[in-house]
Amino acid sequence: MTSGPDQSPERFPSTIGVKALDVEGLRALLIESGEPAFRAKQVIRWLYGRHAHSWNEMTDLPAALRESLSQRLALPCPETIRRQVSEDGTRKYLFRLGDGTTVEAVGLPTADRLTVCFSTQAGCAMGCSFCATGASGFTRNLGPGEMVDQVTTIAEDFDRRVTNAVAMGQGEPFANYDATLAALRIMNSADGPGIGARHLTVSTCGLIPGIRRFASEPEQFTLAVSLHSAVQSTRDVLMPGVRAMPLEQLRAELESYIERTGRRPSLEYALVLGVNDTEAELSALVDFCRGMLVHVNLIPVNPVDGLGHEKTTLARANEFADTLRRNGTEASIRSERGADIDAACGQLRQREAAG
Ligand code: SAH
Ligand code: SF4
Repeated sequence: MTSGPDQSPERFPSTIGVKALDVEGLRALLIESGEPAFRAKQVIRWLYGRHAHSWNEMTDLPAALRESLSQRLALPCPETIRRQVSEDGTRKYLFRLGDGTTVEAVGLPTADRLTVCFSTQAGCAMGCSFCATGASGFTRNLGPGEMVDQVTTIAEDFDRRVTNAVAMGQGEPFANYDATLAALRIMNSADGPGIGARHLTVSTCGLIPGIRRFASEPEQFTLAVSLHSAVQSTRDVLMPGVRAMPLEQLRAELESYIERTGRRPSLEYALVLGVNDTEAELSALVDFCRGMLVHVNLIPVNPVDGLGHEKTTLARANEFADTLRRNGTEASIRSERGADIDAACGQLRQREAAG
């Protein structure tokens, strides 16, 4: 068991209540109250399959149990305090959680998919130099239910099933490993949003112990690693939070992940003009990827006010992609969506804080 009800008040504010619990924690709490274990399934279905806003709605639970749960365990739901709709259909949300903390999430629709980009922490402690979330510092970890709620709320808003979810909003998922995995399991469950494991992606700045644990999980979740430079001195400047986890170790861990899982991770590479888009950077990137089963996602960096990074031209991004492909590495340029609505991670929260 990763988080029981007794541990939750220490890890999360009590106002988060049931949203701090994973399935095992909920089951333990119900068993402790003399209930059969299957009640946990019923509650999960209400919370994340149907998005109940109160214990009272859970009509197939005995009335006495509903009453005692409502006395003991808060059931907060995120409140949408900002919602922006892009010309391309992307919707960006700012949610207020049970204790007043705010987090962002994004919904990206296409004809056959609805992808949700969700946050795993409020803020982030890693301090990447190009990232609005990193610039605003760390507030707290999110509980599993607070992550799943972002998916269910966005599904409701679009009135559509969410087909894909990526932990690419605010926060470093592997710095909140247990809660993130618990959230993925609920998202994957038929009692919750029912998203296929391969359509659930975690993006990490490269926390090696997290990548190792992730490789041993039984589900076929997808891994993305934010690389941003294959030159150690450049990466140290762009991503100061992972200086202690050098590229050589990261590469070895990726090799071992691929060998153990047989799955292909993505490498994220945000191109910053004059910083990581030079010839030397390109050849280091080609070397890093050589012989490894990876897919490189190139993204012209989304400039954040005050952080002083400019984006590389699309022509240069294409040169990166072509050179990688010629050297046997799959590469694509991620289309920029929602650029007109501050869709880059952390930007909306930053704007709200600035008034
Ligand atoms: N902390 C995790 C996941 C959240 S960030 C991580 O870093 O991987 C999600 C992705 O957005 C990461 O690849 C991150 O590097 C990228 N990102 C952050 N700020 C960005 C910006 N201004 N422009 C482009 N990509 C950015
Ligand atoms: Fe944190 Fe990811 Fe932003 Fe870096 S890019 S500061 S790891 S959220």
